[in-house]
Amino acid sequence: MKKLWQNKDIKSVFDFAEGYKAFISNNKTERECVIAIREMAEKYGFISLKEAIKENKKLKAGDKVYAINIDKCIMLFTIGEQPMQNGMRLLGSHIDSPRIDFKPIPLYESADLAMIDTHYYGGIKKYQWTAIPLAIHGVVCKKDGSKVYLNIGEKDDDPVFCISDLLPHLDPKFLEEGKHMITGENLDMLIGGIPLENEEKEPVKKNVLKILAGYGIEEDDFISAEIEIVPAGKARDMGLDRSFVLGYGQDDRICAYTALTAIIETENPKFTTGAIFVDKEEIGSVGASGMQSRFFEDTVAEVIALTGDNSNLAIRRCMRNSLMLSNDVTAGYDPNYESAFNKNNDAQLGKGVAFCKYTGSKGKSDANDASPEYIAKLRQTFDKEDIGYQFTEMGKIDQGGGGTIAYIAGNYGMNVIDGGCALLNMHAPWEISSKVDIYEAHRANKAFLVME
Ligand code: MN
Ligand code: MN
Repeated sequence: MKKLWQNKDIKSVFDFAEGYKAFISNNKTERECVIAIREMAEKYGFISLKEAIKENKKLKAGDKVYAINIDKCIMLFTIGEQPMQNGMRLLGSHIDSPRIDFKPIPLYESADLAMIDTHYYGGIKKYQWTAIPLAIHGVVCKKDGSKVYLNIGEKDDDPVFCISDLLPHLDPKFLEEGKHMITGENLDMLIGGIPLENEEKEPVKKNVLKILAGYGIEEDDFISAEIEIVPAGKARDMGLDRSFVLGYGQDDRICAYTALTAIIETENPKFTTGAIFVDKEEIGSVGASGMQSRFFEDTVAEVIALTGDNSNLAIRRCMRNSLMLSNDVTAGYDPNYESAFNKNNDAQLGKGVAFCKYTGSKGKSDANDASPEYIAKLRQTFDKEDIGYQFTEMGKIDQGGGGTIAYIAGNYGMNVIDGGCALLNMHAPWEISSKVDIYEAHRANKAFLVME
């Protein structure tokens, strides 16, 4: 552990973390991530696949394209020297994070308080989201086709929001058993408290609606909106030695950022490189913008077609011959919760990228099990570059478990393994990562993209 920090130029590690902190501070929803990734990609010469198709542009080695799916998923490809049917080098991460969403009919008034009714997204410990400053990010789609983007609670002079918790004095379950009684329906957010003048019925709610009208939003517009409640504020350095980052959404934007930096720094690869950033991992990778969507395969098919190889077999070969790192975070060993872990086999913060041969739960249920031949190849690649990595499981057997997007890519017959940074407090509003792991994740992704 000491070795990894001691072998590093600390300044490079810390400088890299600055870019990362800005990325996760400025991009707290899938849509915000897609925009930021697209802007970065365009800066580095990636062009829209849609445009390339329209112009029937021939793609040749070194060309770069990106494709966006419903504004919540984005994929980047750099064409390699080898024909695409010889396979790609793929990085896959997810850009959705646990959070709390507005319900379709969110706004109500009770006891002179205007409240927002919510529905949480992903696996959260509900009590962690109460009594902290929150921000709202999202999009409201109007009937006329226009969109209103919301981002309130991040600037120093913005108001923030809060989901209240019950005081300990009136919480018998808490007093007697230390249990939190908060339920999903309890997670409603306070949004206003001033009544609109000369209004008899729901004057506080009406006042909130008046303020929303200033943003161009009417009450019915919430039906066609996606508004996410996230922790307010920026990611911060953590620890006296500043070795950690404390920030929201590090699962899995830590991997999204290091995949993005890796692919944009990899010019003229031998094999086509790809970085895919998907939505809905936290709820099972389902739906149109999740990893299970046909979008991935269809996009690869479109890209191959523009390289002049338009056969169905070429697409299948390309998928099967590809190698992938499913970039996702894992649980770091936590001295506070020793009993949940198996120390020898769990990831530790500051020890480099944590690879999981398999994830899943119980008897390896739902796991993609990476082949040892593939793992040997990765070891060779990373050792050559002196990259810090560890091979890990997530927690004790039968303690719980979790999935990633690896098995979905594995369905194509490609070699794929999970690898990402270890976090403490995963899925909490503020998650903890180690700066040296972030740095190593970037280096590992770069080495992987040019792997033979
Ligand atoms: Mn994840
Ligand atoms: Mn997760």
